[in-house]
Amino acid sequence: MNVAETRPFRCFIVRKQSDGLFVSAIEQCRVADLPDGDVLIRVQFSSLNYKDALSATGHPGVSKSFPHVPGIDAAGTVVESRVPKFQLGDPVIVTGFGFGASRWGGYADHARVPADWIVPLPAGLTLREAMIYGTAGFTAGMSLEMLEHQQIEPSAGPVLVTGASGGVGTMAVALLAKAGFQVHAVTGKPSAHELLRRLGAANFLRREEADDRSGSPLLKAQWAAVVDTVGGNILGTALRSTRPGGCVTACGLTAGIELPITVYPFILRGVSLAGIESGFYPLPKREALWKKLAGAWKLPDLETLATTISLEELKDRIPDILAAKITGRVVVQL
Ligand code: NDP
Repeated sequence: MNVAETRPFRCFIVRKQSDGLFVSAIEQCRVADLPDGDVLIRVQFSSLNYKDALSATGHPGVSKSFPHVPGIDAAGTVVESRVPKFQLGDPVIVTGFGFGASRWGGYADHARVPADWIVPLPAGLTLREAMIYGTAGFTAGMSLEMLEHQQIEPSAGPVLVTGASGGVGTMAVALLAKAGFQVHAVTGKPSAHELLRRLGAANFLRREEADDRSGSPLLKAQWAAVVDTVGGNILGTALRSTRPGGCVTACGLTAGIELPITVYPFILRGVSLAGIESGFYPLPKREALWKKLAGAWKLPDLETLATTISLEELKDRIPDILAAKITGRVVVQL
């Protein structure tokens, strides 16, 4: 047992009380408390995602086993490794694969994970920048990759981004604009227009304008593609408003889990609905996408998207993300 294994460190732990309520607090843990794994990481940055807030409040769809340490993102340096791929001091990123959901995550000074959950920090990115992207930026990157895969070019027409002021939304706006798309942003926050415009949004829609309740199975075909981060009737409206041959990516559920549509967008317009699931994206593709985010796709204005908080401030920000009060990305500095 080395020094790192004996020294106590901070963990943001969620416990389930006997009355069924979930409470969180910062506690002292030891490495022996962490789940077994190949690599021990000194976490330097994590981030706050919608999924973290669900996990921290006991949502059964995210974390089932308590006590639990949320935090689906972590960036830090290797402290101990059982595998040759990772050596002491290597800078690394962990996102997905159940990290912070089914397994203790990044809201602690240390995390221990299987080696095949870890991506080496690509050249061109700092640990902090990696967490400004975090799962949100990675998911937005997957959405852009999907549009490329569907051969949707900027010349095909405007692209709609829903939930545009959120983590995935802001990243999607910025990545799409950098790739040359004309981006229209749906947001419930007029206060976010300035930031979104700086990121490259050309136009704005209020949520109500993207939430058609007419019952019409097809609407005016406006969008070459849609990056949807909210689900529900807004996703349904997006599918009904997409141009022939267009593609709608779906990753989120903040507006609801139902999808009230008919088959007409698919069979009369050839619209594709592409699901985005970042958690189990295979490691080689994962490493390749992180390299793009660090290289050709790197956003010049990453810092303008980030608010930084401490582990101690985390508890107060969790209700904010559930109430859609956060714009951009929240980085947790350990
Ligand atoms: P955020 O909370 O940062 O952003 C969500 C945004 O959705 C809000 O900022 C708000 O944007 C909009 N929104 C919130 N509530 C509603 C509502 N009732 N109706 C319409 N719009 C609403 O979350 P993230 O960016 O972290 O995640 C977005 C979604 O993507 C979540 O559902 C998350 O679980 C999912 N996700 C999925 C992943 C995957 O792999 N499939 C990976 C990462 C995230 P505005 O105010 O601008 O309208």
